[in-house]
Amino acid sequence: MLVDSYGRLATDLRVSLTDRCNLRCTYCMPAEGLDWLPSPTLLTDAEIVRLVRVAVQRLGVTEVRFTGGEPLVRKGLVGIVEQVAALRPRPQISLTSNGIGLARIAVALREAGLDRINVSLDTLDRDRFIELARRDRLDDVIDGLAAAAAAGLTPVKVNAVLMRGINSDEAPALLRWCLERGYQMRFIEQMPLDAQHGWRRDTMVTAAEIFAALEQEFDLEPEGQQVRGSAPAETFLVNGGPGRVGVIASVSRPFCGSCDRVRITADGQVRTCLFAREESDLREPMRAGASDEELAGRWEAAMLTKKPGHGIDDPGFLQPARPMSAIGG
Ligand code: SAM
Ligand code: SF4
Repeated sequence: MLVDSYGRLATDLRVSLTDRCNLRCTYCMPAEGLDWLPSPTLLTDAEIVRLVRVAVQRLGVTEVRFTGGEPLVRKGLVGIVEQVAALRPRPQISLTSNGIGLARIAVALREAGLDRINVSLDTLDRDRFIELARRDRLDDVIDGLAAAAAAGLTPVKVNAVLMRGINSDEAPALLRWCLERGYQMRFIEQMPLDAQHGWRRDTMVTAAEIFAALEQEFDLEPEGQQVRGSAPAETFLVNGGPGRVGVIASVSRPFCGSCDRVRITADGQVRTCLFAREESDLREPMRAGASDEELAGRWEAAMLTKKPGHGIDDPGFLQPARPMSAIGG
């Protein structure tokens, strides 16, 4: 099992399929992009499936989420999903995507075994979208969301990061739009994980501000800890339900104590936390012929480096060397 020194059990595996992306969201990447990981270091499709198999069959992982970078730009995505869905025990399989190109591939992903999807959408205003994502692709995202819902990738969740002075007034409008379409809205506090190191605690839009804005227009009834479990989102029934909204207050109300996540980067490094400063390599041992048992042992050992919390508020906090897009958000 993937137990850390504080007794937390990781059962939710996030797998980054690529560090590349077709958007340039300002809170994530600089306009010019980044130095992408060199191709030979990227795990092949077969290597990804093997590590997921080890996690599911030997280490107690029950949920697998593919992310990136933008996972839809990975050519082998449908095949990877199909092979992971064929594993026994079969994990729950989900995807976090910016939605570009999803309209074309949603049915194939569903047929391959994808269970659910989260699509990031920070604004409904075209000019703001261009300002935030530095590309004119709002219509593609909206079409992708509709296709995901039609394909049965439900509940469709929409992730938004609010940026002060750009889209921070849009929380009620985004929630209204999602409720009308049966999508579940999730607001995520901005974290210090951008490559440009532009995050500032004092300008970040907090969960408290998001609640205050939503409560102007909606009646929010907390679903409580039983529903939340180890999930990072605090969820609420909106106007008595069935619509729901979630707020992920990673910075102002950290949930590290009940964290059940572990990550694999696109180049095969175990990361025990988004904010970890250590990584443990599984790629080279795998390529050097390590058995499944050895890989599982290395992975278990890696968990012991997991810190009790992300430490954003510590005076000596240092942002990790990898940005969010290269870790897998
Ligand atoms: N490209 C896909 C997408 O945008 O959904 C998947 C990868 S992206 C890194 C995963 C999630 O992380 C997105 O919902 C995105 O909004 C969020 N994200 C990126 N940078 C962030 C930051 N600095 N703070 C909080 N969330 C961030
Ligand atoms: Fe790309 Fe997602 Fe980062 Fe936006 S948040 S630049 S879509 S990886």
